[in-house]
Amino acid sequence: MTPIPSPPAYRGRFAPSPTGPLHAGSLATAVGSYLEARSRQGEWLVRMEDLDPSRTRPAAATRILGVLERFGMQWDGEVLHQSRRSEAYRAALALLEGRGMVYPCTCSRREIAHSSITGVDGPIYPGTCRDHRVDTSRAHAMRVRTDNAVVEIVDGICGVIRQRLKHDVGDFVLRRADGVFTYQLAVVVDDAEQGVTHVVRGSDLLASTPRQIHLQHLLGYPTPAYMHLPLVVNVHGEKLGKQTHAPPLDPSDPVPWLIEALHFLGQQPPAGLAESGLTAIWEWATRNWKPGSIPSRCPHASHARHA
Ligand code: GLU
Ligand code: ZN
Repeated sequence: MTPIPSPPAYRGRFAPSPTGPLHAGSLATAVGSYLEARSRQGEWLVRMEDLDPSRTRPAAATRILGVLERFGMQWDGEVLHQSRRSEAYRAALALLEGRGMVYPCTCSRREIAHSSITGVDGPIYPGTCRDHRVDTSRAHAMRVRTDNAVVEIVDGICGVIRQRLKHDVGDFVLRRADGVFTYQLAVVVDDAEQGVTHVVRGSDLLASTPRQIHLQHLLGYPTPAYMHLPLVVNVHGEKLGKQTHAPPLDPSDPVPWLIEALHFLGQQPPAGLAESGLTAIWEWATRNWKPGSIPSRCPHASHARHA
């Protein structure tokens, strides 16, 4: 009998969108997911979320990998590029289609905005196309059906999160009318195919997690453990990013950025650690990693109280 290889006890990942350079916020997310994995002898994968050709810049992907290396973060295996994964996403969508769980939608953004109320993450799709035949010769999105069952997760930092998808989010898009697969579908397929056991990422995605769990259930995938890290915000309370003109990291001088990221994550590097060099900092940080000290800053992830 050939022994079945046992799945890793811990496989994490960092999944940047290469729309611009890494900044202090994306670094803190990378550092948090890296230390959570390494402190548990886990694997750490990197995935490029370059699904949307209109937003992605190929040079940014190369730069991000260079910066991670410069900071001393080593990933396991090959970097997965979502731009090369359409076949896998198509197959997952076809499977859902075969089960009658998805349907075409020709509504425009404007029509939806007019006819809907706002949920946890934008307008709740009112279901206009759910029970109607639509003209599929027109450009159409594909939406997945949701229901009113409570989806519950126990997040490693944010605690219990509950959503009723139909009520909080509505049927959501898996493939846009321009043919681009959405983040929600791609992340679920990739986390499953890559055997990710633990997802550590920014808390702006907390409200997306129940949607991902819904898709995992429909596709028969396991649900990983989730931990949503606080977001670095600017003086206006906005998430750092291209839109808010966050300064890019200086990869030629990683130590102060790394020390700052550790402080941000509630860790207490001793004075003087900064002088001992990158290798020693990582060694200290891995050995002394305390996920319980990470400050929790968890946005409202559900629309209303569900007793
Ligand atoms: N690509 C997302 C971001 O850069 C992260 C997605 C995820 O970790 O699930 O914010
Ligand atoms: Zn529609």
